[in-house]
Amino acid sequence: MTVPAIRINEERLHDDLVALGEIGWDPAHGLARTTFSRAHSAAREWLLERARAAGLQARVDSAANHSAVLPGPPGSRTVLMGSHLDSVPSGGRYDGALGVVCALEVLRTVQDADLRLPVSLEAIDFTDEEGTLVGTLGSWALAGVLTAEILARPRSGRERLLSELSRVGLSEDGLRAARRDPGTLAAYVELHIEQGPVLEREGVDIGVVTGIRGNMSFEVTLTGAARHAGTTPLNARRDAGRGAVLAAKAVGDVTAGEFPECVANVGDVQLEPGAFNVVPGRARVMFECRSVDRDELDRLAARILDRVRAVADDCRLDAEIRRVGHWAPATTNPDVRSAIERAAEDLGLSSMEMPSGAGHDAQVLADVVPAGMVFVPSVGGVSHDPSEHTQFTDCVNGANVLLGTALALARDHTFA
Ligand SMILES: [Zn+2]
Repeated sequence: MTVPAIRINEERLHDDLVALGEIGWDPAHGLARTTFSRAHSAAREWLLERARAAGLQARVDSAANHSAVLPGPPGSRTVLMGSHLDSVPSGGRYDGALGVVCALEVLRTVQDADLRLPVSLEAIDFTDEEGTLVGTLGSWALAGVLTAEILARPRSGRERLLSELSRVGLSEDGLRAARRDPGTLAAYVELHIEQGPVLEREGVDIGVVTGIRGNMSFEVTLTGAARHAGTTPLNARRDAGRGAVLAAKAVGDVTAGEFPECVANVGDVQLEPGAFNVVPGRARVMFECRSVDRDELDRLAARILDRVRAVADDCRLDAEIRRVGHWAPATTNPDVRSAIERAAEDLGLSSMEMPSGAGHDAQVLADVVPAGMVFVPSVGGVSHDPSEHTQFTDCVNGANVLLGTALALARDHTFA
């Protein structure tokens, strides 16, 4: 089939971005749409209303993933597009939201043009991508890979997860029941802001994501003995504070020295009791490390933990190590990548291949369906901050690339 060159409706996209960006926005603190907050629910309701107003189907699954659907012929597979409407506590207007709004705009554009595609198109807003409770909860549920281990040790703590689920009428069984047969999905394409400085620096319009860095995070508790800081000789101390500082340093040293392609971050250090004149008796160090390669991520984490244990031994501390998150690295599908590249080329836009340092729903979906990601430039590389911005032209470019990609995938019989 031949498909005429069509473009998304810029005015409608603009109005939607403005309207959605107001939901949960506070001039002092930016966007607050953490999972299942009042603003988050309002944003999701807004999406369903926009879908219904356009004559699309509005759907919510048993993991509370919200979708707009443009149905294809009976029994046809689905080209899934989307991202997430939840945000970090003081976030920006574009992270996640842009991908959902552009996906919705693609559906409306195809509908306006009265194209009869051999696939269904679906714009989805995944539950809890940012990890208020679990992180990529909705995409894990939809992919059918939500394990008991994930639900037993969520980021928020298990009690909070269970109480939040019941508060909004969800259950663990419901989360599992949200699994979709991968055979019903032709592909998943996610448009997202880059959240880094590369596209802007290179002056390139579109990023074609090759792979997404995996991430392992740990909580290390070091226990020594709280003592008087004046009277206890240095060599008689079991100083958990000194252990925490050396452990935190080891995280960076191992990564920079032995795994220069990887990144690691110590995000929090807490000392107890936390007073000038008390040798800390207990310390908690939170860190994470990331790699695009599965084996390398395992080796990096193992090496860091070896060094942390050695530090604990040297300082005569007990070390308790708890893994609190694990996202495997993902590789995007080469056919989806070339569909994105061709769509950009057809629009006269420049593109470049690049990895994603941040985690995304596409990372989860890539394990079960052919998946790809379109990046658009982030002004100043800023994200997870109220000043996060993407020029409107770049939003339009991304939406049109998403449209072109969806049409190409719909035409391609290996997918449809
Ligand atoms: Zn995001």
